[in-house]
Amino acid sequence: MEPVTLSRDEHQVSRANISKNALKVLYRLHEGGFASYLVGGGVRDLLLGRSPKDFDIATDASPEQVKGLFDNCRLIGRRFRLAHVIFGRDIIEVATFRAAHTEGDGGVVGDTGRIVRDNVFGGTLADDAIRRDLTINALYYNIADFSVVDFFGGVEDLAARKIKFIGSAAERITEDPVRSLRAVRFAAKLDFNLDGDVTEAIAEHSSSLADIPPARLFEEVLKLLQSGHGTESFEQLREHDLLQYLFPLTAARLQHNDEYLARLIGIALRNTDSRIQNDQPVTPAFIYAVMLWADIVEASARHEERGMPPVPAVFAAADEVVPGQLAATALPRRFSMPMREIWALQPRLYKTRGKRAMRLLGNPRFRAAYDFLCLRSEAGEELESYCQAWEKMQELPEGQELLLSAKSRARQSRTQRRPRNGQRSSDKKSAS
Ligand code: ATP
Ligand code: MG
Repeated sequence: MEPVTLSRDEHQVSRANISKNALKVLYRLHEGGFASYLVGGGVRDLLLGRSPKDFDIATDASPEQVKGLFDNCRLIGRRFRLAHVIFGRDIIEVATFRAAHTEGDGGVVGDTGRIVRDNVFGGTLADDAIRRDLTINALYYNIADFSVVDFFGGVEDLAARKIKFIGSAAERITEDPVRSLRAVRFAAKLDFNLDGDVTEAIAEHSSSLADIPPARLFEEVLKLLQSGHGTESFEQLREHDLLQYLFPLTAARLQHNDEYLARLIGIALRNTDSRIQNDQPVTPAFIYAVMLWADIVEASARHEERGMPPVPAVFAAADEVVPGQLAATALPRRFSMPMREIWALQPRLYKTRGKRAMRLLGNPRFRAAYDFLCLRSEAGEELESYCQAWEKMQELPEGQELLLSAKSRARQSRTQRRPRNGQRSSDKKSAS
């Protein structure tokens, strides 16, 4: 396999656009005598003139050797072992070249052709390249001479705006069905087209997405819906019939033309995209609250008919509905708890007068619940007067004070419950 190599003056990847931390890791590996390449989104996005979300590095150093070079390094992932070099919140991912499974222990392929474990080290750069998913994701920037190495015509496909698998799309998706989600995600994010056989391969070989661990699919949901291109990603998921593996309840309702839900989701995703654009915080609690809302309404109406008061009825509905979602994608408790609270606050927001109503402004979840109420109103429910009333109350001096105290309480509970791992995937490349 002979790659095309573009020398420093034949491409526009510049060290000025690579993060300091990524450069540190690249140089330390190089000085340690190892191969050291930037790969994946870092190279792809820089070649497109975009700023990369994160930087991934590939090397011939084993994970243990990488760990030996950095104090701030942690090895993660069982199925696809990786080194994370940690700089505060910034994590640089370092992957070791893999060799063919025939070259040693540590490689396992299941009956269905799915790669269960991929940890045979000692491969070459070419071995590493052929294991990657798309041609545009297998471009390497060599820190030794600042060249870009392209094995599969990735540079050409970037220019042609093509999402193309390395080798047979059908085989690559069979090896790891999450690649279907990745293909549509990059099509959405980059506004690229799926190459010839990709659509067909997705249609024929994605059903084993149902066997992927829910936690890995949750990570994919975050990348699909919370990276600033949620609207396009969601459209792609629907177009390729992939939504059912991530949000089965939602997919079933949209299949039956639930127009209200479609509007609700559309507005919510547009809001999320623009919040990300403006560097405002977003949370999966809100997106999941939106996706499951129609099921919550239906189930809680049933409980209310049997005489349950509105708020307990919502919690009872959540107990019924949420497990069906968790079977598809996980949702860590730090998100599922606030999601339930957003729902449970809805009936309480229908009372906009009196001390009790005023006190709601001090609830740490008030703001999200209020946004949710206004979203429902925008999607066509008759809630406009409540939205306006709450807007006015937030502007009162007393309201401002309560909102501030709610904010600091929310911050406190966040720092107490901060997850050690953040939202990073610990097993991103693995097939399971
Ligand atoms: P971004 O970080 O912008 O979402 P990316 O391409 O960097 O995009 P990552 O998930 O960070 O995506 O993965 C880094 C690289 O690892 C990819 O570019 C690809 O080469 C490889 N990769 C990741 N997941 C897989 C997979 N499931 N199968 C094959 N290769 C993968
Ligand atoms: Mg990346």
